[in-house]
Amino acid sequence: MELMLALAGNPNSGKTTLFNELTGSRQHVGNYPGVTVEKKEGEYKYNGQKIAITDLPGTYSLTAYSEEEVVARDFLVNKRPDTVVNIVDASNLERNLYLTVQFLELGIPVCIALNMIDVAKDRGLIIDDEKLSSLMGIPIVPTIARSGKGKKEIIAAAVKIAKEGKKRESLQISYGDDLDNILLEFEKKIQANNFMTDIYPARWIALKYLEKDNQIIDKGRLENSRLSLSLEEDTKKITEHLGKTLDTYPEAMIADYRYGFIKSILKQGVIERKYDHNRLYASDQIDKVLTHRLLGPLIMLTILMGLYHITFTYGAIPMGWLESFFGLLGDTVSRLLPDGLFKSMIISGVIDGVGGVLGFVPLIMLMFFGIAILEDSGYLSRVAYMLDRVFKIFGLHGNSVMPFIVSGGIAGGCAVPGIMATRTLKSRKERLATMLTAPFMNCGAKLPVMALLIGTFFSENSAFLMFMLTLLSWAGALIAAKILRMTIISGKETPFVLELPPYRWPTLKGLLIHTWERSWQYIKKAGTVILGISIIIWAMMTFPQMPTSKIEEFKQKRELVYSSFPAPVIKELKSKDEDSILSEKAQELGIQILKINNTESEEKLKNSIAGRIGTSLESITRFTGFDWRTNIALVGGFAAKEVVISTLGTAYSLGEIDSEDSASLGEILAKSPHWNPVVALSLIVFTMFYAPCFVAVVVIIKESGSWKWGAFSIIFNTVIAFILSIIIFQGGLFLNLTGG
Ligand code: GDP
Ligand code: MG
Repeated sequence: MELMLALAGNPNSGKTTLFNELTGSRQHVGNYPGVTVEKKEGEYKYNGQKIAITDLPGTYSLTAYSEEEVVARDFLVNKRPDTVVNIVDASNLERNLYLTVQFLELGIPVCIALNMIDVAKDRGLIIDDEKLSSLMGIPIVPTIARSGKGKKEIIAAAVKIAKEGKKRESLQISYGDDLDNILLEFEKKIQANNFMTDIYPARWIALKYLEKDNQIIDKGRLENSRLSLSLEEDTKKITEHLGKTLDTYPEAMIADYRYGFIKSILKQGVIERKYDHNRLYASDQIDKVLTHRLLGPLIMLTILMGLYHITFTYGAIPMGWLESFFGLLGDTVSRLLPDGLFKSMIISGVIDGVGGVLGFVPLIMLMFFGIAILEDSGYLSRVAYMLDRVFKIFGLHGNSVMPFIVSGGIAGGCAVPGIMATRTLKSRKERLATMLTAPFMNCGAKLPVMALLIGTFFSENSAFLMFMLTLLSWAGALIAAKILRMTIISGKETPFVLELPPYRWPTLKGLLIHTWERSWQYIKKAGTVILGISIIIWAMMTFPQMPTSKIEEFKQKRELVYSSFPAPVIKELKSKDEDSILSEKAQELGIQILKINNTESEEKLKNSIAGRIGTSLESITRFTGFDWRTNIALVGGFAAKEVVISTLGTAYSLGEIDSEDSASLGEILAKSPHWNPVVALSLIVFTMFYAPCFVAVVVIIKESGSWKWGAFSIIFNTVIAFILSIIIFQGGLFLNLTGG
């Protein structure tokens, strides 16, 4: 008979690595928790015997809070593998054993692969596996999955359990007086009615009712609806009782006692810490200040403000060099190449488009360096810990904080890994709410947009504005989450456990590697995706070309309008872009002309495909202050938000090609009559909030399992962005801040 083993454990404990070591198949080993959502199957030959091995999705518990947990549990219960090999991360023993305890409560045959002992050792942890094994009553084999160490031994242990085929007694933990009594009562009723007892142990079913496990309750209702309802009713009563007397609820209490059980085992000399004592003590002392109820948030905001201040102050210097470099490059290429389409593509599409995005590399690297310090020192975990309280109020979870930060919560992340990181969330509803709001964070692609406009229009207060915009992005995301959680994805919140790792001094090497990895991503994207899109947009801005006769006609019409004014007035009108006066005049004279004050190149640009799209959108975007160029940029920005900058670069480059001096995009915008601080702010906020980029939408669809959520996020976010921009622009007009 073929033996069947299942690998189970927390996300990132090394299941897939061990599975690949055993079966030789190359499965994806992901960086983000829970990358193995489906189970994978393979085969291993042990002493000539074929053994089927399944790699289950990573889970923290066996209560049906997340899809992974349902998949894993169903497999264990329905397929009944001969032995479950529980992969336990030795460097994170307490949390990993939480799942082990639940295997034992379910009464399934299990052995432990105590994995990552190398990591544990590096952290100064020595684990007495024999003692742990005798205390838990199950075989334990130390392993290092990455090098294959211990793989034969763990299989041997698993096969031995399978061959013995003993029926395991399920583990019974005390859950305190209140719950123990009700568990006994439930157990009696369940046994008397043979209520699902052919599949699960009676006490386990009772526990699931107390934990309000939907899957079990649904099954129970089908099996015996009267009994199920009476158990649900009793659960409601005990929940109220616990709330009144102890200010807690059954799920939290059950988790507490399980951890208590694990702690009581670990305390008996299982773990020896070699050199951690002092560091842990110091960490606790630091945390008393840094996570203090009042001081903690204040310090957090100060750090954030400091980070932006340093970035904008010192980032501006090397950015200036890069800007001059691209200016010089443009001039040189312009002199070397003959006039024509190719030159226009290189200068306006590539150098002025992509160069605009690359110009921000120094600033972004500085920002990434700062974030790497916060991350490597362990401070970011404290941020998550402090924000948990706030997040609960808005219907999100402590585990939602990391996805937000990964998405660019401080600045310069990416929503794609952010959305994938929501896999650590147990409840599907909390996960959806997080996934849909994480794209509001200021990802790396939005940074050049923000940096350019802030640097051009708010250079006096750039750090402060960046700080306020970060707060705005969080406030927007949290309020949006609250709205979602009160309407289309309402539901209960789930409890949160977070361990604070001890602080550590970041190493310079580690910081440089982290900074470089992220910066390189940014540069690579600019050189590939953004370059491609830039060229496409350049083409859309160039074709169809305007015939020369049309241009001549335009020039003549314009002259006709101008010549109806006295000479000094014309000069003034030309410089002030008094479009309305000129248009009126043109109408008076019966001349049909789009925009008289345009230069010829602008006229050509507006005649192109992109120009027409941008112009047709002006009827909506006049409420937000965006002209047709910005509209093109925003449409392109759906592909990737850096494109907003590269497109503006190309548009102004094409528009200004006949002017001699090569001004930077910032300088052009500062001089342009279409632009002022209010328009800039309106565009920044729109870019922050409108539809997530294309790739992020695809990931939302994949992770939520429905294209509807992707479509929803495009519409929902764009509507929010539009409302905010209208408020800003109209408010600015009302307060007369647009200058004029
Ligand atoms: P899964 O989520 O449980 O499938 O975990 P993975 O197999 O994807 O492993 C997560 C990460 O831990 C990968 O980067 C592995 O290379 C690494 N890893 C797995 N086992 C070990 C180990 O024993 N020692 C060390 N140092 N790293 C390991
Ligand atoms: Mg895996």
